[in-house]
Amino acid sequence: MTVVTRFAPSPTGYLHVGGLRTALYAYLFARQNKGKFILRIEDTDQKRYVEGAVESLQNALKFFDLNWDEGPIFQSHRTAIYQKYAQQLLESGKAYRCFCTSEELDAMREQQAKLKIAPKYDRRCLELAPEKTAEKLAAGIPFVIRQLIPYKDIDFLDTIRGDMHFHGKDIDDQVLIKSDGLPTYHLANVVDDHEMEVTHVIRGEEWLPSTPKHLWLYEAFGWTPPIFAHLPLLLNPDRSKLSKRQGDVAAEDFVAKGYLKEAMINFIAFLGWNPGTEEEIFSLEDLVKRFSLDRVQKAGAVFNLEKLDWLNAHYLRAKTTKELTDLILPLLQKESWYSDALPQKFSEAQKEKILSSVQLRMKTLLDGPTMLRPFLLDTLDYKRELFFSEKMKVDEATVKLALENAIPALEALDNYDEEETIKAALVAVIEKLGLKNGQVLWPLRVALTNEEYSPGVFELCRLMGKELTLKRLKATLEFFAV
Ligand code: GLU
Repeated sequence: MTVVTRFAPSPTGYLHVGGLRTALYAYLFARQNKGKFILRIEDTDQKRYVEGAVESLQNALKFFDLNWDEGPIFQSHRTAIYQKYAQQLLESGKAYRCFCTSEELDAMREQQAKLKIAPKYDRRCLELAPEKTAEKLAAGIPFVIRQLIPYKDIDFLDTIRGDMHFHGKDIDDQVLIKSDGLPTYHLANVVDDHEMEVTHVIRGEEWLPSTPKHLWLYEAFGWTPPIFAHLPLLLNPDRSKLSKRQGDVAAEDFVAKGYLKEAMINFIAFLGWNPGTEEEIFSLEDLVKRFSLDRVQKAGAVFNLEKLDWLNAHYLRAKTTKELTDLILPLLQKESWYSDALPQKFSEAQKEKILSSVQLRMKTLLDGPTMLRPFLLDTLDYKRELFFSEKMKVDEATVKLALENAIPALEALDNYDEEETIKAALVAVIEKLGLKNGQVLWPLRVALTNEEYSPGVFELCRLMGKELTLKRLKATLEFFAV
């Protein structure tokens, strides 16, 4: 038996991180079993159609290297197929036409609420005499096709959740075909999983209550159902359900925030699965080898962003300078201050040094442009206040004194390769002036970067080299001279 899985999103706008996890697990399971992974677009609900959603879904899956073998298959192109199967159910008495208007259905629900009984279609159209039905059909009265739910209990084995038991009598006679002739999710989903020979339905826990309805459809058609695996809910750290209100939930948002695809995949894989060992770093290929549905947990999986940050920093550090440059360059090019001429003033060796330092401190790709800015900019647009610090006792006089003395000391220095040598030269200045470290080093650091946060002065001098270091310090002295 060839394993066939599918990812079956409804194109409602973006790829939710929960959807990404479903796609990932379905992909991994298919790949590790040398099976087939299908992308199916469940777009039968035209009201929920969002322009461009299908393209962005496909782009997101491709970005994460979750390549599908078949598809995208659009349900909206398969209406005739669902009609044919609905007809088959009508003929076998497993479904019936319902002509009730929405007013009638509302009144029915109201009545049921009054009587405190579960809201459920009362099957008044099931009892319609055949000539009545024929009359209504001839008069062109709109109708839906409902599934005749057998009011009996149903059991099934979910690979993740174990033995499941549902009470059939609580389940409403589902609409299979709407009055516009289009199928509902339930019918289209079951017909497609059968026709596409899907062996394993891997999907979110929110679809668990629909499974009995699906199983009855399989039974009504006389088909063997697939194996079901319902993935645990995604939770916020406070254990509430992950929702848009609490922050980003679109996979694209995380990419836009500078998270690497490797980090995202590794992070998402662990939302409900773990290898049963202490290992934490898994590439997509590792996951194909090691993932197993048996190790997917039932309990909700907590979406812990600190873990994602940690993984992202890990994967950022694992990049070669070339890879990192390729990732940061498009972001740099979006900065108003950037031009391609700026990095050209640095030698390859110097670029390598600067990037390696930045790489160690980056948490996301977006840190790249901010951290590179002090090195790349020709001139810095200084702000006086940033130089001063009440806490460190740095005022204008101190700034000038520090610069006037540090400049000749650094000018006398030729080797900028060792931070120790730079440090020795500056410590000598601090001692000579009888000032505290911060009173000299803070203004020098701001002079070199014009940033509130940056590496320390000795590292900056090493990375910038003699020429740029002195250029920055002299520019600051001039800035304070006016
Ligand atoms: N179209 C459903 C969704 O958007 C698919 C559910 C399933 O996989 O059966 O999640």
